[in-house]
Amino acid sequence: MKPAPFAYTKARTLKEAVALLSKHKDDARLLAGGQSLIATLNMRLSAPELLIDINGIKGLDGIAKKGKFVEIGALARHAEVERSELIATHAPLIALAMPHIGHPAIRNRGTFGGSIAFADPAAELPACLLALGAEIDIAGPKGKRKVKAEAFFKGLFETALRPNEMLTAVRIPTADKNTRVGFAELARRHGDYAIVGLAASARANGKSLADIRLAYFGVGATPVRAKQSEAALAKGDVDAAVAALDLDPSDDVQATGAVKKHLAGVLLRRVAKQLMETRP
Ligand code: FAD
Repeated sequence: MKPAPFAYTKARTLKEAVALLSKHKDDARLLAGGQSLIATLNMRLSAPELLIDINGIKGLDGIAKKGKFVEIGALARHAEVERSELIATHAPLIALAMPHIGHPAIRNRGTFGGSIAFADPAAELPACLLALGAEIDIAGPKGKRKVKAEAFFKGLFETALRPNEMLTAVRIPTADKNTRVGFAELARRHGDYAIVGLAASARANGKSLADIRLAYFGVGATPVRAKQSEAALAKGDVDAAVAALDLDPSDDVQATGAVKKHLAGVLLRRVAKQLMETRP
């Protein structure tokens, strides 16, 4: 299928992109890597009157360590993040997740910011941000604001972004020697969206784990924390953590809710092992 007719413009600055969004609001869409947007246009799931290409805006594609955070610019391509030594050292959960996002061709064009703004419930990165307690930087007509990942993912493909706002960067607390991370997903073929996935972080506290954050994806409209399992895992009891899984996934095209819940338990065992073993 072909998309409905639309106009195209290229924003040169952040200010220009925000001004265009403010003028056209829901009739406009930002175009980043196009890996999700173009498919929705072609399938006529979305028919904006204007596409605002943000690829020419300078300064939005960096990956840098800034104090106790790693900052990833909205336009950093998945492939750059995947290859970044800085990410491997200071944000190891992101490095673990990256190879699971689509295929190399998609990772060459798709952007970090696009993946977070699109907020696909089966996507890896939103769950990673939730597991890491990351912050999202947003620019709008009234200036900049920050939103914690917990408050950013609001519903199915719905985020805290207002129609006249743009995501500019994501800030992730840097890992230290006590940081532990784990990641696992089950997909029909490598590169497919996950049936169920789990991103996790924790702090080593002697022989046990503290500050455990288990963020599932593919089990609801947004990434979901399994808080009862986190509490059980903090006591070192993996069986109890699996039994306590506080998830209620619905059936979808990939699997029934019951199968997803079973798989979530399988992933929890794998990730719990990683959390007890991994070093950043
Ligand atoms: P675009 O497609 O350009 O935009 C997506 C949406 O986000 C649009 O509504 C756009 O307006 C908005 N947007 C983009 N940037 C911003 C911004 N800075 N501020 C505000 N709004 C913005 N993803 C996964 O996570 N896991 C997978 O396994 C996976 N598999 C895929 C397989 C295939 C075959 C394809 C085609 C895609 C797959 N993707 C997968 C999607 C891919 O990761 C996309 O790159 C990503 O979802 C969107 O990034 P993008 O830069 O391409 O955004």
